[in-house]
Amino acid sequence: MPDIIHLLPDNIANQIAAGEVIQRPASAVKELLENAVDAGADDIRLMIQDAGKALVQVIDNGKGMSDTDARMAFERHATSKISQIDDLFRIRTMGFRGEALASIAAVAQVTLKTKRAEDSNGTMLEIENSKVTLQEPVATNNGTSIAMKNLFFNVPARRNFLKSNAAELRHIVDEFTRVAMAFPHIFFSLSSNGQEVFHLEKGSLKQRIVQLLGNHYNARLVSVQEQTDYMNITGFVGKPETAKKTRGDQYFFVNSRFIKSAYLNHSVMQAFQDLVPKDSFPMYALFIDLDPEQLDINVHPTKQEIKFEDEKIVYAFVQSAVKHALAQFSITPTLDFDLDVDIQRLDSVSKPVTDESRHIASSSSLYQGFTKKHQAHFIEPSKEMGHWKDFFEPASKQASSADQYRLPIHEKKEASAEGIRPDTDFYQVQESYIIVPTHDGYRLVQQQLAHERILYERFSQAVAGKPMATQQSLFPVTMEMAPADAVILGELLPDLQHAGYLLEPFGKNSFIVQGTPADVETGNEKAAIEKIIEQYKHFSSDLRFSKREKLIRSLAWQHAIKEGTRLTQKEMHRLVEDLFHCETPNTSPNGRPTYLSFRKQDLDKMFGK
Ligand code: ADP
Ligand code: MG
Repeated sequence: MPDIIHLLPDNIANQIAAGEVIQRPASAVKELLENAVDAGADDIRLMIQDAGKALVQVIDNGKGMSDTDARMAFERHATSKISQIDDLFRIRTMGFRGEALASIAAVAQVTLKTKRAEDSNGTMLEIENSKVTLQEPVATNNGTSIAMKNLFFNVPARRNFLKSNAAELRHIVDEFTRVAMAFPHIFFSLSSNGQEVFHLEKGSLKQRIVQLLGNHYNARLVSVQEQTDYMNITGFVGKPETAKKTRGDQYFFVNSRFIKSAYLNHSVMQAFQDLVPKDSFPMYALFIDLDPEQLDINVHPTKQEIKFEDEKIVYAFVQSAVKHALAQFSITPTLDFDLDVDIQRLDSVSKPVTDESRHIASSSSLYQGFTKKHQAHFIEPSKEMGHWKDFFEPASKQASSADQYRLPIHEKKEASAEGIRPDTDFYQVQESYIIVPTHDGYRLVQQQLAHERILYERFSQAVAGKPMATQQSLFPVTMEMAPADAVILGELLPDLQHAGYLLEPFGKNSFIVQGTPADVETGNEKAAIEKIIEQYKHFSSDLRFSKREKLIRSLAWQHAIKEGTRLTQKEMHRLVEDLFHCETPNTSPNGRPTYLSFRKQDLDKMFGK
């Protein structure tokens, strides 16, 4: 028998190793942006095509590379940032492992152009499958441009693993946000398919946060700042009222590097205790600076997790700094949260949505067509609600589709409306439950879950082609979204329209609300849409659901009456009636029971009778 062990060819070894560093277009975005920061650039432009699947390109005005360095840069373990093991404990750069460019070159087609200020000519390099296919002198600007094309063109299995453009784009925006937030003194832009999505002028951290996360944080940020010999913390937390349903806007940076730390997150949440509701997440962007000797950043290939020499001190420090900041804010609410002069001069700030955009809004076709009718509210007829008496006819169709959900804890056959007594009063308990008397006992209906079920089925039908009733707005409002949310909203427009939300894209990150479902109060359109997006993000890591399914669930959740809402007799009857008209009345969309049944004979048994 021949020997069977052999060395892998370099390009295959590189492809395998690349898997750790480059998982998706967003990983390349992170690495290329960090390289540009390390190169001392103060102007960094990111361009992507097809959510990064076709192209990720970063152009910087940093220090550039010599011809030899340009070639070396793509070798595995080639780095200019450390040379001995001790250097690991003095790291001040973003990169140091010397793997990113080698990894990218192993799984994509790369074009590099680079030039140092002291050289008269630059270098151009083309690489594919870890092999240089072209190197020649080129006239180019000082700095570096790296274009990564057709990611995973040579690893089809991994290419197939990439998600929808909306999902990949979201990862890219996340990475971009993390780097751009850490370096507010650097200009950053992001263009997607030729359209500029972010244009971030140099400025203060506060300005950068508002540019990135949206104007609603404007004047709602509390400064956090504590300095000690051991470590410093600076940054901002959102005022409690800006807390959201999803944990999106939470950022920790250690020595300018974005990190994920459940432990430190916990310390901030502790500081916010009692100031925000339990299930909501305050915004924070906190920067911890400490001696690199106190850190091990080398524990994770993409360096998002790090080890602190003394975690407990850091925990306590973060918590007390945030508490201190919040305390100051509540005793001195007039603290100066004004924007710096620089940002006040920015167009997006100095020209708020109102004047200019309202003018354009009012000249849009939908608006014109509508106002000509001189109608304040135009409500299209909605599907007639089923009648109370139908309700007593045995429900025959419901049970079958229940199987797709986790089965409720009670028997399926009890899901029928049979047996409910039409003539009786219902009772509301704890503003959360409805007691519904039946012939042989009672049912306990959970109002929020029941309503979610009703709306879930209604929105499902709407999206499948029976549009919901829409009320058109007399004065269409313009809403400006955080850029990342605008990307998501853009994707959802057609389905939202079926669900009764008429939105028109309107310039960068803005939308005009032309109409909302009939049950959304006017004046609340923006809040309602923001909540839907938040809930959508909440679901978005859930791979089981399609985009449409996530949207339907978000809508149902958003519109459902919540616990703590007092209901009239009429409302309770309507809710119960609607519930038992559902295909699957016995579970909420998430598979929780919407009601429990109690029979007198069982109750009797419990009382030993
Ligand atoms: P690392 O950043 O860990 O050193 P990389 O593979 O990302 O490893 O980059 C390898 C080397 O290429 C860097 O150490 C740096 O010297 C050089 N380099 C990469 N990107 C740039 C850039 N945009 N400008 C100048 N030099 C760069
Ligand atoms: Mg690097």
